[in-house]
Amino acid sequence: MTSTFFDLLERLSSLMRIWNRQHPLLAELQPIQVSALIYLSRCNRYSNTPLGVTEYLGLTKGTVSQSLKALEARGLIEKRQALHDRRSVHLELTAVARELLEAVAPPQFLAAALSRMGERAQLLEQLFGELLREIQRAEDVPGFGLCQSCRFHQQRNGLPFCGLTEQPLQSRDAQLICREHSPLEVA
Ligand code: SF4
Repeated sequence: MTSTFFDLLERLSSLMRIWNRQHPLLAELQPIQVSALIYLSRCNRYSNTPLGVTEYLGLTKGTVSQSLKALEARGLIEKRQALHDRRSVHLELTAVARELLEAVAPPQFLAAALSRMGERAQLLEQLFGELLREIQRAEDVPGFGLCQSCRFHQQRNGLPFCGLTEQPLQSRDAQLICREHSPLEVA
């Protein structure tokens, strides 16, 4: 069972890499650059830093730094200084990058297969989420969970609020990934 599951994950990963290499709109981007763009499109404002990208991708600072420079040179990301800490840099996707991701993600072959699976696709998504949380609970790996499932996620005056940073959140933040995420189970 474990071996078969591992084989399936490996095969799906290799199909994703092939998709990345062969997609005409992604031909000039390396897989790591595509992964960085996808992460930046899904993470919140506490997580869109070079360190956040580095931790999420699990690569060295130097490798990520080179990739971010390449993305900036292509006009796909912009650096912004944090309002309250001028040493801290945040990375924002440009309109061009957002259009690109809208056209390519999720991969068409994956979306079509999930659509053919109908309701079972939802169950699969739940099970994959459960598997990820199980690994995150048992291993020393960065959380990067969805804000709405964090133990610090609160509601104040009908709007989401972060109990860790003591700052209000926007409605869409609940669906974004955060590097400070802490699961409910460890509260
Ligand atoms: S509630 Fe948790 S996941 Fe959401 S912003 Fe705060 S620390 Fe991050």
